Amino acid sequence: MNRCLLCNQYFIPEISFLNILSPVEKHEAKLCQHCLNKFELLGKIRCFLCSKNLNKEGICNDCQRWQTIYRNDPLKNYAIFRYNAFFHDLMVNYKRYGDYVLYQVLQELCHEKLKSMNYDAYIPIPTSPEHMEKRQFDTISAIYADLVPLTPLLQKNSGSGAQGEKSRQERLMSPQSFLIAKDVQLRENIFKGKILLLDDIYTTGRTLYHARDKLRELFPETIIESFSICR
Ligand SMILES: [Zn+2]
Ligand SMILES: [Zn+2]
Repeated sequence: MNRCLLCNQYFIPEISFLNILSPVEKHEAKLCQHCLNKFELLGKIRCFLCSKNLNKEGICNDCQRWQTIYRNDPLKNYAIFRYNAFFHDLMVNYKRYGDYVLYQVLQELCHEKLKSMNYDAYIPIPTSPEHMEKRQFDTISAIYADLVPLTPLLQKNSGSGAQGEKSRQERLMSPQSFLIAKDVQLRENIFKGKILLLDDIYTTGRTLYHARDKLRELFPETIIESFSICR
């Protein structure tokens, strides 16, 4: 019997094929089926660039806007879930109220997808120094640190504020607030390889495009893509 991290009920985990075939990779389920069902997987018809659900195939309004700004260099973003009310509540508890254990719920939602993605470096979107002080943990690194080897190459300026507290227009207007961290050892293969930026939610894309702009200064030839649990 396992205990669900969200509703606290005991449940019998379903045995997946993967668990039978490779007992070494055995993964303990942390969410009951009832809670899992409240998260909405993204449907099949998505924006080619950011994975947002659309009514017909194509490119969403946000990405069309980015394409006019970035010409032929749009950012490819992978995502799994829709940002519904249930996910919103989870993120409020995790980020606004600093409920640290919820990082395990977010891990549970994305670990399988991440296993299928192969990159030379995984760079998390950092928390601002003010939020770090308030919560005492980095919300993005907490989710991904057990899943992939992280390269913490980005830092956030102090005083840049949280995107989550801004209106859509304010988000889009926010200035570049990332810095390159010093003293991070980089393997040579990153310069010609592939980087995956890691975030929790893709809202307007502003944060991830800024993060990529900053990394471009260091990696002009590297393929840089991004992953967010929600879109
Ligand atoms: Zn549950
Ligand atoms: Zn899009």
